[in-house]
Amino acid sequence: MRCPFCGADDSKVVDSRLSAEGDAIRRRRMCVECNERFTTYETAELTLPRLIKRDQSRSVFDENKLRSGFLKALEKRPVSIDAIDSAVKGIVRRLIATGEREVESRLVGDWVMEALHDLDEVAYVRFASVYRSFQDVNAFREEIERMENRNDQLTKE
Ligand SMILES: [Zn+2]
Repeated sequence: MRCPFCGADDSKVVDSRLSAEGDAIRRRRMCVECNERFTTYETAELTLPRLIKRDQSRSVFDENKLRSGFLKALEKRPVSIDAIDSAVKGIVRRLIATGEREVESRLVGDWVMEALHDLDEVAYVRFASVYRSFQDVNAFREEIERMENRNDQLTKE
C-alpha cells in the first residue's frame, strides 16, 4: 500500500483488527520510508440485486434512500438511530441473501413494513397508510382495526 504522506511504495501493517460491526478489517499501517501511520479498511464487495418496480423499470438499490425513508417515518418517534441502522442493515442482508440479480421492489417494501412494525407501531401505520394505499386499501384498514382491537384488549386488562 502506497504511503499517502510521502508516496513511498511500501508500508507495513502494524495492527489489524475487526471493526465493531464485524464487517470490515481495520489495518494500521506504517510507511517504511517516513514512518507515518495511516489506516486502511478492507470490506467484502457484495453486489446487491437491482429492484424491479411496478412499471417493470429497474433501479439500483440505494441504502441511503432506505435510511432516509426510515428516518422520515420515525420522525419525532422514540426510536434510536442505532435501531434504525440495524433495521437498514437487516434489509440489506436479506437482499444479499436472496442471491438474485433482480428482486421486486415490493419485496423490500414488505421488509420495511415488518421492520417498522417491530420498531414503532405509530410509524408503521404512518408508513402503511402511504405504502399500502397504492396496492391494497383494505389491508390497511384491517391493520388499523386489528391494532385498535389489540389496544382495546390492553386497556381492558
Ligand atoms: Zn511515507
